[in-house]
Amino acid sequence: MKYGIIGYSGRMGQAIEELFSEAGHELVYQMDENGEKEIEKPEVVIDFSLKEAFADTVRVIKEKEVPLVIGTTGLDDTDFAKLDELAEKVAVIQSFNFSIGINILSELIKKVNKYVDRDWDIEISETHHRFKKDKPSGTAIMLGDLLERDVEMHSKRLGSEFGEHEVDFASIGEVLTLKHRAYSRKAFTQGVLLSAEKILDLEPGFYSFSEILK
Ligand code: NAD
Repeated sequence: MKYGIIGYSGRMGQAIEELFSEAGHELVYQMDENGEKEIEKPEVVIDFSLKEAFADTVRVIKEKEVPLVIGTTGLDDTDFAKLDELAEKVAVIQSFNFSIGINILSELIKKVNKYVDRDWDIEISETHHRFKKDKPSGTAIMLGDLLERDVEMHSKRLGSEFGEHEVDFASIGEVLTLKHRAYSRKAFTQGVLLSAEKILDLEPGFYSFSEILK
């Protein structure tokens, strides 16, 4: 496949290029904060950049009319409305977390949430490397949305941590903890590769990564 990356020079952009080139895919378009370079029109564009780049991402997808896999965090409701608009013409796969483990964790959270009543406390903690700009993480927000109530969120920015998320459910006398930790960026890039390969066969529309896994 011929693909493009927005956020090409970033930590995720570089990890994506490494895995995609191992899989035999060809990088033909790239963009970062220093500008863009196009060798050929890509069949799919992958965006792992920052919210600041989002207006450019929308422009590029409108111009090229190619599918989009987007993992950039920090997006708000207005940005999601723009993704919905793009999805009328092309397939869009969006997730704040492309790891398989976090998607399993999401299913477990929904299950546990059915068993605990309003008397239980629920709090989410996340730890990421010192360079991560948004806080709380997109994943913490995504997990919080599954709980159907406001929950406290705690964020740490430490060293080179790839991403740790923990959800505590506690009543007087007991605590149940669900936890996921990414040991490497491969946790995310494998899901991005799977999404980019599948998106070529999808009709226009908005898809979550969990739908792709099903
Ligand atoms: P990074 O800071 O290393 O890289 C950011 C990239 O975006 C750089 O290439 C930078 O040049 C580019 N950029 C910044 N401003 C830009 C602009 N205005 N126009 C064009 N490009 C611009 O960040 P990272 O660690 O690679 O993470 C990238 C994004 O991916 C973040 O939003 C992060 O939270 C997210 N992320 C998502 C997942 C997931 O599974 N969804 C996993 C890890 C990281």
